Amino acid sequence: MRGLLTAIAIAAAVLLGYALSCAVRPYRDCWLCNGKGHHRSKGNRKLSRPCRWCRASGKRLRFGRRAWNRARRVHRAAG
Ligand SMILES: [Zn+2]
Repeated sequence: MRGLLTAIAIAAAVLLGYALSCAVRPYRDCWLCNGKGHHRSKGNRKLSRPCRWCRASGKRLRFGRRAWNRARRVHRAAG
């Protein structure tokens, strides 16, 4: 049982740290354009296109923050 408790404590600590990091920095650089908001097309290297993945903002809302926003919306709708 001691090992299980330790595993739960570690998982809780990791989750808490992740939640905190999502609260402090909800956005991260887009993986497709590296935060630039646009990227070179593969066919024509001179052509720079706005990034569709981040809608040319260069930032992506992190998964944890998206889940948090959704949870809050559901909570507000219920109460
Ligand atoms: Zn992007």
